[in-house]
Amino acid sequence: MRIEHDVKLGFKDVMFRPKRSTLKSRSEVTLERDFTFLNSKAEWQGVPIMAANMDTTGTFEIAKVLADHKLFTAIHKHYTPEQWHAFLSNAPTNITDFIAISTGTGQDDANKLKTVFNQHPELKFICIDVANGYSEHFVEFVNKTRNLYPNKTIIAGNVVTGEMVEQLLLSGADIVKVGIGPGSVCTTRVKTGVGYPQLSAIIECADAAHGLGGQIISDGGCTTPGDVSKAFGAGADFVMLGGMFAGHTESGGELIERNGERYKQFYGMSSATAMDKYVGGVAEYRASEGKTVEVPYKGDVKDTLQDILGGIRSTCTYVGAARLKELTKRTTFIRVAEQENQVYNR
Ligand code: 5GP
Repeated sequence: MRIEHDVKLGFKDVMFRPKRSTLKSRSEVTLERDFTFLNSKAEWQGVPIMAANMDTTGTFEIAKVLADHKLFTAIHKHYTPEQWHAFLSNAPTNITDFIAISTGTGQDDANKLKTVFNQHPELKFICIDVANGYSEHFVEFVNKTRNLYPNKTIIAGNVVTGEMVEQLLLSGADIVKVGIGPGSVCTTRVKTGVGYPQLSAIIECADAAHGLGGQIISDGGCTTPGDVSKAFGAGADFVMLGGMFAGHTESGGELIERNGERYKQFYGMSSATAMDKYVGGVAEYRASEGKTVEVPYKGDVKDTLQDILGGIRSTCTYVGAARLKELTKRTTFIRVAEQENQVYNR
């Protein structure tokens, strides 16, 4: 047994130190970024925020709104090829720049991917998503997918350490998804004791990825626009959000009315709710690693979007970053023992 003694940090452990800036207004800040991906060699331009590939947030309805604002959606893996066909037949042509098709690593998953790509070769992004990205089988699947689809941009995860980011990039991934256990409806840390504080995971994984010319997505743990800024400040190229996009008109999940208040159901993709829905219950050998919650109904997702983007623009003006790309360079985090004043939140 070994213990690493250096402290690993989460979003709640830091704040940005404000810096002198020549920016006059947050309207001068541009949040769009350009990337050329390591293996696919494809180019991309947009606002690098993503809706998570959960069936409550990675919906076609969310994707339409987000793409309209040049944000990305990792579409969840439970849509059928027929549903994909119906969606793409009526979607704007640039939608394929802002969506990924998600897949697990089973043979059925690979077959479904093939069926959708045969019918829709215009799709550009694949998101290979497993809870534990440390297995050899997963790395082999990434490698096989790269060989089958040399020009597609491959997102793969989740991992939290630099050496595994490097291994995935060298096995054919373009963008590595980073995060184990920080999610709002995730219970992995409770059920297994495994995890990595998200801010440190981003700092370490971004360093590894950028050294090879790859990108990372910070996935999970953001609860406010300030957290999204912190993820970018730490070095994330993209930030993926589940809970912050849950509860909207365009989100999945049942709408519930109780005592005149409206709520929407939101649950982890390894929760008993999701497993009941898709695989007929939680298998005997495993525990559910996700929660089911009801979030207050938040209205249209475009309003939340404005709130998030406004917050990040404001962060940029506080530290003097005219472009999101400059935020990491302009970031000095201070370690803190307090966050916001909660007196009126109780
Ligand atoms: P959030 O933005 O809600 O904090 O985190 C979203 C992320 O949580 C997802 O993108 C995914 O990586 C993770 N996640 C979603 N469902 C589950 C689950 O059931 N269990 C675990 N461990 N993580 C989940």
